[in-house]
Amino acid sequence: MSLDHRSLATRLNGLIWLEVCNGCTQCSLRCAAGTQASRAEWEAIRRYVAQLSASEREAFEQTLKQSKQQSLGDGIEVTLCRFLDRKTNLCTIYPVRPLVCRLMGHVEWLPCPIHKIEHPMPRAAALEILEVYAQTERHSFEEWEQIAPLLDGVADSRT
Ligand code: SF4
Ligand code: SF4
Repeated sequence: MSLDHRSLATRLNGLIWLEVCNGCTQCSLRCAAGTQASRAEWEAIRRYVAQLSASEREAFEQTLKQSKQQSLGDGIEVTLCRFLDRKTNLCTIYPVRPLVCRLMGHVEWLPCPIHKIEHPMPRAAALEILEVYAQTERHSFEEWEQIAPLLDGVADSRT
């Protein structure tokens, strides 16, 4: 199975009803720093950012500058994902979010916290995808930023 971003997304779309999550923010506190992406997924994110309009790009860059620190009480503080907009609690790269984000709520080991998804994707299909995905080069967003910076080296639609 090819694991470029488009084929992966197509395969997932055929297995699970991803639209149920569109616009929902109820699990946004699970969007933690350190989320991993494959090279193909990171390149898809870079292309997505490069095609944003000037106003969208401006808003995106403001999101990156937001503090991602979140107190959970009892002195516990977590760092949330750099792509989470703290004003809306929405993902700013939603159409190109990586596999782990797409699986949230749709596999039995990452259940939907509000029980909106009654039927997770078949375990065998999820494991088949993960088995192949696990063989790809993966890094956290923070590591990819060092390897191939998001806002550098990709054509900017504003120019
Ligand atoms: S997994 Fe559940 S809580 Fe998270 S976005 Fe989907 S429906 Fe909302
Ligand atoms: S990429 Fe989007 S969906 Fe994934 S952890 Fe970050 S904000 Fe959440």
